[in-house]
Amino acid sequence: MDKGLLIVLSGPSGVGKGTVCSVLRNKVPELVYSVSATTRLPRQGEVDGVNYFFKSREQFQDMIARDALLEHAEYVGNYYGTPRDFVERTLASGKDVILEIEVQGALKVKQKFPEGIFVFLLPPSLDELKQRITGRGTESLDTINNRMSVAVDEMNLLGHYDYAVLNDEIDAACDRIRSIMIAEHCRRERY
Ligand code: 5GP
Repeated sequence: MDKGLLIVLSGPSGVGKGTVCSVLRNKVPELVYSVSATTRLPRQGEVDGVNYFFKSREQFQDMIARDALLEHAEYVGNYYGTPRDFVERTLASGKDVILEIEVQGALKVKQKFPEGIFVFLLPPSLDELKQRITGRGTESLDTINNRMSVAVDEMNLLGHYDYAVLNDEIDAACDRIRSIMIAEHCRRERY
């Protein structure tokens, strides 16, 4: 059986990766989402095992020691990582998998899965990005400033990606990613 495609959706904090990813999953129900592990606390409404696997630092370090993560990164004081087994098993079963992860982690995945499809989501402008980071309303001023400076550094890594997708409008961004997936399937002669 042919392996599924690994789609890595990344880009700076606040660009709207989470929203684009969830709208894309509604549009492409057969696309399998990889739930990440994190040491950050759940936000209101987030459910363990659905949004993230919420872990203590000790539990997370144990996952690293057991090589249970495909990649992990520290981001604004918390660990985030992709459980390895789930991704490998799902791809082997022929299904497409999407990771929605920050830039450092995406570059680590690229070393292990160079055949993955690396998509960088672009904000319409840096001003717009700052508004989006501020507008979430759930973070302290320190966190916002931290995230903004990380975001500017992250923008410089665009050249490592296969595709740049402008997130000017959510549906349009999802349609672009869907077109990329169709094209990549055609390239592998699976349609
Ligand atoms: P948030 O705390 O807002 O949910 O996520 C913060 C950042 O961590 C986002 O940029 C998100 O894409 C990223 N992230 C989520 N899961 C993972 C993961 O498994 N690995 C890495 N490297 N980043 C992740």
